Amino acid sequence: MRPKLCLILLPLLLLAALPADAFGPLGHQTVGGIADQLLRGSPAAVRVRSILGSNLQTAAVWADCAKGVGQAKPGAPFVYDGSGPYPECTYYENPASQAAMEAFVRRNATHCYANSSDEVCRHKSYHYTDVATTQTRYARGLVGTSDHDLVAAIQACVAVLRDEAAPAPFHIASKKEALRLLSHYLGDLHQPMHVLSVYLDASGQVLNPDVGVFDPKSSTKGANTILLKGSKLHALWDGVPGSLATRLLAGEGAAAAAQVPATPGSPQSWPEAWATDTLLAGQPALSVLSFAPRDATGVWRATAPADYKARREALQREQMIKAGARLAELLRAIWP
Ligand SMILES: [Zn+2]
Repeated sequence: MRPKLCLILLPLLLLAALPADAFGPLGHQTVGGIADQLLRGSPAAVRVRSILGSNLQTAAVWADCAKGVGQAKPGAPFVYDGSGPYPECTYYENPASQAAMEAFVRRNATHCYANSSDEVCRHKSYHYTDVATTQTRYARGLVGTSDHDLVAAIQACVAVLRDEAAPAPFHIASKKEALRLLSHYLGDLHQPMHVLSVYLDASGQVLNPDVGVFDPKSSTKGANTILLKGSKLHALWDGVPGSLATRLLAGEGAAAAAQVPATPGSPQSWPEAWATDTLLAGQPALSVLSFAPRDATGVWRATAPADYKARREALQREQMIKAGARLAELLRAIWP
């Protein structure tokens, strides 16, 4: 009976682990699509096509689709079963692509069964960092950062694309895998709730977690434990309006991205500099909110100004444009 029970339970367990907290597919596809348009006709575009066999717009959702890989229980095989609810993943739902997603997760996780933490289902932690809003720059070692956070993940992908080894704990098997991941992580790096996090005390006052003894209960987990009108604040920021994505992909995005200033310094320093840029650009997304005391379930309810939705969409637009510009900038630096 047991194997059969596992087969029945597995889809349910995996559904619970699917990318509810991921920057949505529209955002990632828009970032990839803007970069595709900027790179058109360049040596980098030729390399991208030969490595991926697709464009960046398609590749940019792969890392979230890989979150559909899980285990029925500790020690069980890693199996992709994300099919159904995420149409953007249909492209990868064939035996070879599913095997590639399973292999990536197996190499970058200890366990990935239902409710596994991001520490043991480690590849999920590659999508974010949680620098406190009280900081003015990203620096490794601050509360919410780690050697397997979003900034470290981008640096690891760049190393592999430059024929260097990825630093531990990353296990990136090929340039194809690195480019799929990079095209996704650059999008996450520009979603404010994937980079900055407000830390709150029990009464809902903002605190600085880098001073004194850090209390893990003060973490809002990238705004996943903040509710705004009943919705997770993180999820609101993941959602990109379809009309905005359509406009940006129709050429408005690439035209604006061409005006984004070049990043100074060496490409090795860019991921940290861009994280700092998102930290600063994203501050108003949290600083205009006020918070009720933490409730018994560990959740804070937020109140926002009346024009918060309009402000959010304006910032999302700006951030997707910067992400597309910087993805293209980084690939041009790798393949001039
Ligand atoms: Zn992500």
